[in-house]
Amino acid sequence: MQPIQLGDFTISKFVESTGNVEVPAAAFVGLSDARLAALARTLDPRALGSAAHLLYISMHSFVLRTGRLNILIDTCNGNDKTRTGIMAGMHMLSHDYLGNLAKLGLKPEDIDVVLCTHLHSDHVGWNTRLENGQWVPTFPNARYLMSEIDIDYYGGLPPSHPQYALTRESYDDSILPVLNSGQAELIRTGHLVEREIGNGVWFEGCPGHTPGNMVIHAQCGGRADQHAIFTGDVFHHPVQIQDPTLHLGVDAGPEDALSARRHFVEAYADTGTILLAAHFPTPTAGRVVRQGQGTAFQFLDPL
Ligand SMILES: [Zn+2]
Repeated sequence: MQPIQLGDFTISKFVESTGNVEVPAAAFVGLSDARLAALARTLDPRALGSAAHLLYISMHSFVLRTGRLNILIDTCNGNDKTRTGIMAGMHMLSHDYLGNLAKLGLKPEDIDVVLCTHLHSDHVGWNTRLENGQWVPTFPNARYLMSEIDIDYYGGLPPSHPQYALTRESYDDSILPVLNSGQAELIRTGHLVEREIGNGVWFEGCPGHTPGNMVIHAQCGGRADQHAIFTGDVFHHPVQIQDPTLHLGVDAGPEDALSARRHFVEAYADTGTILLAAHFPTPTAGRVVRQGQGTAFQFLDPL
């Protein structure tokens, strides 16, 4: 993904490890081989995996530079963390995430604000790092803005709850230490990230994937043609722009999550608004366009 310029704002992406990874298309509920074959005809080939039953996704973060603030959006899985159950694939990672951030010219101290779209463990991991056996905030000068609704929900889940494995370990090692440090700011819908930069960066509540799920808008100068939305996990893959009923089966509120996907597809088709999803494969950034009777995702970077 080439850096995106929205007026005075610059948006960059950096990966946690290697960028694209493959997942079985069957991970998406409702995505049969025949359905995928039909959708693949109008899906950008960069979203398809190396075999007919595979799709590419990615683990990455975004940096939004407003000229005043360096804002980090969603912090992947993190290093050295104990992960079990559904998150066992992220157990004890050792990636040069901060080295990849450095390639953008930024040190941890340079990050002013950390924004989490929601509190699943693959979006909060680098909130903290291990230092002398203790979890400490990775970004010493940052305010961390997190959903109060998600904090309340995930802080109190019993082990028998289906969402427990997605969040409980990360709540303890990636959320609680930030709360205890005093760097956390719990927020609700509509929160402006910095009033001094006008209405340029704000949260919109979008419950479904998690109860407190939010998307983050960046709009420079109030101009509709300078608008991007960090959509987190409202969508996991461009195939869902073509068929919003497809999902990974990990939404806390499946009906709200479906409504959210339908809303985004309808509201932003052919508007020029850039969508920046947390797991769309390289080149990641793109727009919803009308195509035939339906919609599709068009990457900004040409094929
Ligand atoms: Zn995710």
